[in-house]
Amino acid sequence: MASRATELFEQALESARRLGAGILDRERSPHAVHAVVDGAAALADSFMDQNPTPSDQLACKRGCDHCCHRPVGTNAATVLRIAASLRERLSDVEFAATLARVVALDAQTHRASWTPTERPPLACAFLVDHECTIHAVRPFVCRAWNSADADACLRALGVDSVEMRFDLFQRTVFAGIEKGLQAAVKSHHLDAGDLELTAAIRVAMENPEACERWLAGEPIFTGCEAKPDGRRRLPFA
Ligand code: SF4
Repeated sequence: MASRATELFEQALESARRLGAGILDRERSPHAVHAVVDGAAALADSFMDQNPTPSDQLACKRGCDHCCHRPVGTNAATVLRIAASLRERLSDVEFAATLARVVALDAQTHRASWTPTERPPLACAFLVDHECTIHAVRPFVCRAWNSADADACLRALGVDSVEMRFDLFQRTVFAGIEKGLQAAVKSHHLDAGDLELTAAIRVAMENPEACERWLAGEPIFTGCEAKPDGRRRLPFA
């Protein structure tokens, strides 16, 4: 299975890299950045159509949000896509309320260790009434995560290592797609980012020109980096 997973990871990565680089070759704009992320998500869904694992073998279901209480690793283009979606969809009052939740969480978690024993479980700022409010544009790691045992996910909130059964195909596809997206961005001399969601989305929400500044090469996400030392990594990520 390991070599099949490696092959799948490489296929997903290369498909997303080609797609993203092609879009950025034609146009370098906020619209193109959003198209790269949306295209990568659609590509991942097309890979998932080939997933041999029956979905009823997984414990994941609407309203189960254990995994939404851990730090989220993401990338610059995805953060900018999420911020644009929030500006499109939310009223000024809703946007301000969402930003207030992000700022409050960032105050608790900024630069904190990612290990469960050192960072207590805290709800993601986008989690409301047990539902993800940015579901259509959520980070790739959120799309990748799955488990055959909800109790194991709950236990994993408190300890650094828990044995867990999961769908390797799903985790591999989304990990490969995200790496391919980042490779496309890097190939255009942009900061692909390996970012912590809360800190990075705060920057993107507080700066209406964030995407233009990022496209111009400004290091706007400095200080929002993910913490690889304490990060629980996806297979092959
Ligand atoms: S972005 Fe959505 S899916 Fe991801 S951790 Fe936050 S609430 Fe959960």
